[in-house]
Amino acid sequence: MVTSTDTSHGSSSDAREPALLHGTPVVPGVAYGPALVARTEVSPDAIAAFDGSALDEEAALTAFDSAVGTVADGFARKAEVASGAAAEVLTASAGLARDKGLRGAVRKHLRSGEDLLASVHAGVEQFVTVFTGMGGLMAERVTDLRDIERRVVAHIVGEPEPGVPTPQTPSVLVAEDLAPADTAGLDPAVVVALVTERGGPTSHTAIIARQLGIPCVVGTAGALAVSAGTPLLVDGTAGTVETHPDESVALERVEADRETRAALATWTGPGHTADGTPVKLLANVADGDSARSASEAPVEGVGLFRTELCFLNRKDEPSVEEQTGIYAQVLGAFDGGRYVVVRTLDAGSDKPVAFATHEGEENPALGVRGLRLSFSNPDLLERQLDAIAAAAVETGTEAWVMAPMVATVAEAADFAEGVRRRGLKAGVMVEVPSAALLAHRMLEVVDFLSIGTNDLTQYTMAADRMATDLAHLTDPWQPAVLQLIAITAEAGRQAGKPVGVCGEAAADPLLACALVGMGVTSLSMAAAAVRPVGARLATVSMDTCEDAAEAALAASDPRAAREAVLALLEG
Ligand code: PEP
Ligand code: MG
Repeated sequence: MVTSTDTSHGSSSDAREPALLHGTPVVPGVAYGPALVARTEVSPDAIAAFDGSALDEEAALTAFDSAVGTVADGFARKAEVASGAAAEVLTASAGLARDKGLRGAVRKHLRSGEDLLASVHAGVEQFVTVFTGMGGLMAERVTDLRDIERRVVAHIVGEPEPGVPTPQTPSVLVAEDLAPADTAGLDPAVVVALVTERGGPTSHTAIIARQLGIPCVVGTAGALAVSAGTPLLVDGTAGTVETHPDESVALERVEADRETRAALATWTGPGHTADGTPVKLLANVADGDSARSASEAPVEGVGLFRTELCFLNRKDEPSVEEQTGIYAQVLGAFDGGRYVVVRTLDAGSDKPVAFATHEGEENPALGVRGLRLSFSNPDLLERQLDAIAAAAVETGTEAWVMAPMVATVAEAADFAEGVRRRGLKAGVMVEVPSAALLAHRMLEVVDFLSIGTNDLTQYTMAADRMATDLAHLTDPWQPAVLQLIAITAEAGRQAGKPVGVCGEAAADPLLACALVGMGVTSLSMAAAAVRPVGARLATVSMDTCEDAAEAALAASDPRAAREAVLALLEG
């Protein structure tokens, strides 16, 4: 809970000596402002002062109902003014707070004689255990459950509810991590950057910062030790946060960054290095709407159409005709010479699709997900391929088709046969280290490869991509991940076949240059990331990209790799 949030310099207790903190850069850009520190715990003093034993069971339940009602109403109000994913999460949180099961669990503990705060905690923990056991997206809701608990407890003990108050002056928001309820409605005019102590490149904070377009550094050790009001210079490209910087230097850097960003807005593509080597810049899309909006960006097509995202709410498999219509919306947005790489269903693990996912797996990330679903249900894949082929005919757009989660050459060969039979170009994703190590053999049986760096990083480092505690491992700049990318790209060079990157790594302008230097021929990313990547690439020669690749591969850790590439590109 936010118990102390102010930007006054008077409360600062740390030395005025400049210090440099390091984290994981998520959204590029430079910002300068006083720290607005959000503390997320309820004050222990307020909890200690609360006398729960003074309430009988009925009074305690009434206090719980009142607190929960206020918290849920607050979520619902925020949902009304939020949009997209943030609105959905807030509405879900309102429902979760009002859940009858939670109330029942709290009442059970009150009946057994526990006091109100202990009962709330026990009730929430009961849900945490169930959600954690369910894994995937449900496990991610655990953060929201704990957020609900803190808010309810704050009301019960008479403290203000946690949240990020609107600062008086443009400020840098510093937090342990941010829940959706904290970030919904953040105004980029007054919150100029985000810095968190925890969280990784795929955390909620990172997603919100990308949406807001403000510089963001996550997993920043020591961030919470910064006192409110401390002047901070945040560099979302280098992943650094400097305390007490020289003000005139800081303002110059912010201005230089503003000019660079203004120049980016005018970049129109197509992608190439400074000396003219073409690099295809492509968009990642999820459905017809996102495809139509991505088609406005300076891209040569779609490098990743995540088809499973069209079906997350579907109980039953849509017919071939219905699937054809859905895929045709995406393909149709990219007619006129552009192409679309369609990925077959990557259901399972963090993306449960009711009609495809296997229930009750012990370890779904390593289970029957992606292409593996077709082992016991080949018709599911056949029907999807029929629909993709029909959509390609209907729209006249060139469709390439790739399978997710491929581990063996035999899987790649089987898949390619089914795709080519329908007259389409066949490829596979490189997300499993075995596929990277055998890239040269994969390329004997497919037309192209696409490296999914999100999962390739997860499986190489044996680190859950959603685990905020492991953010330092789930970083595509890790040397082992870079080695596997380099092996894959080199295999593509030798075979003379395209090798793209479609994971989040492609959206990092620095890493993008190193990837191109390794031999990657296309980069696919959220449409909003295309201009910064394209503009950066256009300033760097192929020789420098190759030097950047070599320097990144030689570095001993992600930070050293970033620093080495930055020095080369800006040196
Ligand atoms: C990846 O793993 O990098 C990828 C692009 O697939 P997804 O993020 O959908 O798992
Ligand atoms: Mg993946």
